Amino acid sequence: MTQITSDLHDLTVAQLATQLRERKVSAVEAAQHFLSRAAIHTKLGAFLDRQPDVTLAQARAADERLAAGNAGPLTGVPLAHKDIFVTRDFATTAGSRMLKGYHSPFDATVVTRLGAGVPGGSPGAGMVTLGKLNCDEFAMGSANENSAYGPVKNPWNLSCTPGGSSGGSAAAVAARLTPAATGTDTGGSIRQPASFCGVTGIKPTYGRASRYGMVAFASSLDQAGPLARSAEDCALLLSAMCGPDPDRDSTSLDVPAEDFSRSLNAELAGLRIGIPAEFFGEGLAPDVRAAVDAALKELEQLGARLVPISLPRTELSIPVYYIIAPAEASSNLSRFDGVKFGFRAKQYTDLNDMYLQTREQGFGDEVKRRIMIGTYVLSHGYYDAYYLQAQKIRRMIADDFQQAFAVCDVIAGPVAPTVAWKLGGHSDPLTDYLADIFTLPASLAGLPGMSLPVGFGAGHLPVGLQLIGNYLTESRLLNVAHRFQQATDWHTAKPQGI
Ligand code: GLN
Repeated sequence: MTQITSDLHDLTVAQLATQLRERKVSAVEAAQHFLSRAAIHTKLGAFLDRQPDVTLAQARAADERLAAGNAGPLTGVPLAHKDIFVTRDFATTAGSRMLKGYHSPFDATVVTRLGAGVPGGSPGAGMVTLGKLNCDEFAMGSANENSAYGPVKNPWNLSCTPGGSSGGSAAAVAARLTPAATGTDTGGSIRQPASFCGVTGIKPTYGRASRYGMVAFASSLDQAGPLARSAEDCALLLSAMCGPDPDRDSTSLDVPAEDFSRSLNAELAGLRIGIPAEFFGEGLAPDVRAAVDAALKELEQLGARLVPISLPRTELSIPVYYIIAPAEASSNLSRFDGVKFGFRAKQYTDLNDMYLQTREQGFGDEVKRRIMIGTYVLSHGYYDAYYLQAQKIRRMIADDFQQAFAVCDVIAGPVAPTVAWKLGGHSDPLTDYLADIFTLPASLAGLPGMSLPVGFGAGHLPVGLQLIGNYLTESRLLNVAHRFQQATDWHTAKPQGI
């Protein structure tokens, strides 16, 4: 194991996995390489916790598995987790002061599955954890500026946002600080940062991946997924992440784990791609539109047929989401009271004041805003007017998708109306909310969605194409993305100076 490739970080997950299996590189060498990159490139603000001793111990265990010949397709490949997944060996903050220094007594199911597996039970994929990645506080945000630990910078332009809330994940993958990362998507938090940083990310069907150990934001929407540089890599990770978890997440689907790599190469001939008129209206920036249009042409070249469709309630997804998500958040965040987890105010007069001071000091502005909105829409007298109406429209949005899928197999459009904006560029939260318009509908419907890089817009910032599929059609989305990536090289573009 001598010839350590200096450009190890340029290898995809699939390539690195092959080198590990062929013993051209050891898991320890790979881990050391990425650990030193993460230590050098701290200016991105991507990592919140690194524990090199833990990482190297995991790498040694992976090398043992590789040597013993009982390795899986991902064994020894490094990855990093969004800091919303609880981890025993790394601190978990969810980007919040409220959880500063918190150590979970257990690992999230997704972490276990990608890592060492259940002791004495089913083996995990054997990936090696490099650390925890910055994110918006409790995954609330679209720019990673709501993290209590500072914003993440976009590797393509350090004065721009990487997107959010999985901004650390997308930035770290784009900057080749890790071959892959986990993310979570409640209303777009995998797809939008993937788009802004020029990487590939997929949010599976709601319920595909266990939410056990994911710090809850909006439980009926939260879903885990991978970010990596290619659809092929995402397929490898997603296959390891998904599967039922009946004892720990009652909403996890009773659908067996699937090998999403199997149909990556299927032909696209005859594939009907639905183009929702509402995704191409006046709010869409011309540079994003140009890159998306060019990608759609490429998909036509590959044999797909574009079919006009309508998702008439697209605009309503913003008010609906920003009622339902805060409602659920206000309930989920009630557990942070200074008693059970993490932070407690230093000074207070009595128990009530302790709750008050802890929550006042522990939560950031956006989280407080959402707790207030959520509490309001759930309160007696307003529940019917807001929450109930939102739930009804949510159902109609899901129905609209089913009508669309009667005439198409996959839906395509932009991920976000613009490329990444400047850090500090949105002065009020509503501007952020409005920019979620194209990712929220699939989230509300619980459908799988992904983003893949398809070009560059203004300021040479990446543009992503969003693909949305019907329930449980992740393999189809990955197949379309893979064929596109076989025919083009947008996904191989690399930010300068990193
Ligand atoms: N931007 C959306 C929000 O702020 C989505 C976040 C997410 O998917 N976690 O809620």
